[in-house]
Parts: sequence; structure tokens; C-alpha cells
Amino acid sequence: MTMRHDVSGLLAAFPATPLGHYPTPLDAAPRLGDALGLDLHIKRDDATGLAFGGNKIRQLEFYLGKALAQNADTILITGAVQSNYVRAAAGAAAKLGLRCHVQLEDRVPLYDECYVNSGNVLVDRLLGAMVHTYPEGEDEAGADARLHEIADEERRQGFNPYVIPLGPGNPPIGALGYVKGAMELVEQLDGPDAIDAFVVPSGSGMTHGGFLVGLRALGVRAPVFGICVRRDADAQAQRIADNCRNVEELLGLPTVVSGDDIRTVDDVLSPGYGRLNDATYEAVLLAARTEGLMLDTVYSGRALAGLVHLAKEGVIARGSTVVFLHTGGTPALFGYSEVLNDRLASAE
Ligand SMILES: *Cc1c(COP(=O)(O)O)cnc(C)c1O
Repeated sequence: MTMRHDVSGLLAAFPATPLGHYPTPLDAAPRLGDALGLDLHIKRDDATGLAFGGNKIRQLEFYLGKALAQNADTILITGAVQSNYVRAAAGAAAKLGLRCHVQLEDRVPLYDECYVNSGNVLVDRLLGAMVHTYPEGEDEAGADARLHEIADEERRQGFNPYVIPLGPGNPPIGALGYVKGAMELVEQLDGPDAIDAFVVPSGSGMTHGGFLVGLRALGVRAPVFGICVRRDADAQAQRIADNCRNVEELLGLPTVVSGDDIRTVDDVLSPGYGRLNDATYEAVLLAARTEGLMLDTVYSGRALAGLVHLAKEGVIARGSTVVFLHTGGTPALFGYSEVLNDRLASAE
């Protein structure tokens, strides 16, 4: 017997502000499923709505709930140049009438016109965010320190800033959005045993960690595969283990996620964060050409490439019923349009 916890009651203790359209659809994907030999369903969190949607909308509902509870009038966030988080935060700030500083870090060695000016960067500017750049993308501590300097300057000018705390060591508030997302998905399923496997992208791990804690707390036992987008499988597994402990603690849950529950897959990670590989490019085309479904090349396309790999290797058995979490990110496609056009042209 698996114990079910009152997840809804536990979440009610945290301030949240509504930003998205829920529930997001759970769509059958029969043509893509046939191509993979699976009974495939897609949880459409690309369709959360606000400013092109995606998984960050669920996470931001909790951060901005906290910011509003502190009477913040300005929010600050740092991320990669084509960050969906930054873009979603800029959208949330606009909707809530807050000022917004965004810091874009050079994490991907791509400097073409599209990468630097199109996609999410264009949207950030259209949303009215104040854009700063930070050249050392791998220096997380440095980027955070620089953002806090901007916040200090805001305070000197009489504003009340809230820095969205995304670095490790901060409480995993954003993961609560995916505990809630898991709850929403479970409502859409025919019981806790209806699904054989779940597949999600795994970056900061707020999505993967929150989703895993949520599913286990609700008595769903099927494996949750996290497809690595930035770190290798061992480093990512450690991060997810930490996230899960922190989420359980934050919510006041007992341990619901065991060591065996943490499954990370890095077979499609090379050559690294934000850099296109063959498997990801093929997965983006496969989803587009079987379902008319748009994925991006940094996260959701890589996650589907991971699912293709797991199906091909038989780690997920043929005929299994699978839910793939589509986390959005589609505006970033246009940041990669030069790279993608080169690939498309060389295939002709
Ligand atoms: C940020 C992001 C992810 C990764 O989510 P984490 O919670 O950071 O692990 C996946 N997909 C998209 C589209 C994203 O923007």
C-alpha cells in the first residue's frame, strides 16, 4: 500500500499568484507514438499561456507570490541569453505591473545575430524588461553577485526589489509549481497505475524534482526519467536527490522519493548545454512532422531525443504507456534559426 499525502493542503501554506492557463492539455500523440513503438501522451506545459508559456510559468507563480507578499515593486532575474525563465519572468512582471531587470549570461558559444537578438531576447525587450549582459556564463556566483549589485542600486533609488533566487542553496520554491503540476496531471489519469513511465527534461531540476516528489506523494510509482540538458547523469542525480530532500522538507512531507527513484539520462547531452546535436535536431523534426508539435533545441527537443534513446534501447519497453512533459521553450527556436537553417539547407 502506498500512502497518499494531502499535497493540496500542504501547498496551500505557500503564497502563489496565478499566471497560467490550467489544466494544460494531456494530448494523445499517436503518430509520434507509432514512430517510437509507444502509447505516447504529451502533457502540454508549453501551453501554460503567459508570454509563450512553458514550465517556468508554474514555477514563477510561487516566486512572485512571495515577491508580492513582500510588497516588491521590481523583480530581478539572471539566466542564459536565450533563457525561457528570464522571458517568462519578464512576462509575469508585465502582467503584475512590476519593474523587471534581466541579466543575460553568455553560456553558449553562439554569437550570431539570431542568437543574440531574436527569440527570447526579442520577447524580453518587447515586454519592457531592462536588459543587462554578463560575459562569464559559467560563473554562477559571479552572475548572482552582479544581480544583487543591481538590486542594491534599486534600493538606493527607493524601490523594493525581489531577486528571484534560482541558485543552489536557495529554498526550492519553484519546484512547488511542479508538485502542483504533478497533482494536476494525476487528476487527468485513470488512476495511479495508468502510466508506465514519465519523461521530463532535467536542468536546474526544479521541474524534475518537484514532479517526482509530487507523483510519489500521490502514490504514483512509475519511473520518472530526467533527460539531462546541462550536467552529466551522476552530477544531475545528486542535484535531483538534493532537490527532492529540500522539497520534502519545505512541504513538511516525510521522505517519499528513494534513491532508486532518481533516474537521469545523459546519452543525448553531448556536446553540452544549448548546443545542437544530431539526436536533438532529429527529435525536433520528428515531433514537427508527425504531430505538428513544436519543440525547442535546448530543452524539449533534447528531452524527446532522450525518450527516443530510451525506447530504442528498450529501457522503456515497446508498447508502454508514456507521458512526455513538454516544457515549452519554443521562442528559443528563433534564436537558433541560423543554426537550424544551415542544417535544413545541408539536408536538401
Ligand atoms: C528551464 C527549462 C527546462 C528545465 O527545467 P528545470 O526546472 O530548470 O530543470 C526545461 N524546458 C524548458 C523549455 C525550460 O525553459
